[in-house]
Amino acid sequence: MDERKLAEQQFDARIADVEARISAACSRSGRTREEIQVVAVTKYVSSDMVRLALDKGYKVLGENRWQDAKEKVERFGDEAVWHFIGHLQTNKVKDVLGRFACIHSVDRISLATEIHKKAEALGISVPCFIQVNVSGEESKYGLPPEQLMEFAEQIRGLQGLSVAGLMTMAPYEAEPESTRPVFRGLRQLRDELNAKSILDKPVTELSMGMSNDFEVAIEEGATMIRLGSVLVGTSS
Ligand SMILES: *Cc1c(COP(=O)(O)O)cnc(C)c1O
Repeated sequence: MDERKLAEQQFDARIADVEARISAACSRSGRTREEIQVVAVTKYVSSDMVRLALDKGYKVLGENRWQDAKEKVERFGDEAVWHFIGHLQTNKVKDVLGRFACIHSVDRISLATEIHKKAEALGISVPCFIQVNVSGEESKYGLPPEQLMEFAEQIRGLQGLSVAGLMTMAPYEAEPESTRPVFRGLRQLRDELNAKSILDKPVTELSMGMSNDFEVAIEEGATMIRLGSVLVGTSS
């Protein structure tokens, strides 16, 4: 069997497995599949695999480094809806804007200000997530939870970005159930942000859950799950 056929068969099997698990997590928590947006994270795979993902109906794709994403973004352009999910250096904002529909990793004022300036110059407003380091792990990016409200106040006037919601990454846990407090914490922060009416409009989205822990994230209210290895795989 040729390589592409094999890759496709393996992908079909992963899709069946992941979609069944998403649906089961939705049923357990009284939610529907339509409430969950899958961001297929293509950072580990080649543009041929991106082709396959698009053909299978996964149009929202995530990348975490501009240098690695460039070739894929240029090849597929508007066929995909690209989300920038990784740590974003301020000097890369100019490359990312206009090409990515959404940025999941806004975690400091200097970055928010730069997005605002560059977006205004393009006449756009970019949907963004505020990344919060709920777990407090030192290796993780994101604002400490106790700084979220003040941060939201500081960026509320920046018209070049529009806050869609909050994003977090849970630590890798051998037992995914252990991530639950992190995801629950992010949902509570979102609700608190809305209750205080700090931003111009309520935020609805929660970008949380990856290959290892997406089911728990769905049960805790995730609206976007970012799936790499479990869905698109890690090679070819
Ligand atoms: C790589 C990455 C993912 C996907 O990781 P998997 O564990 O392979 O699903 C999700 N979110 C971010 C921010 C990432 O960098």
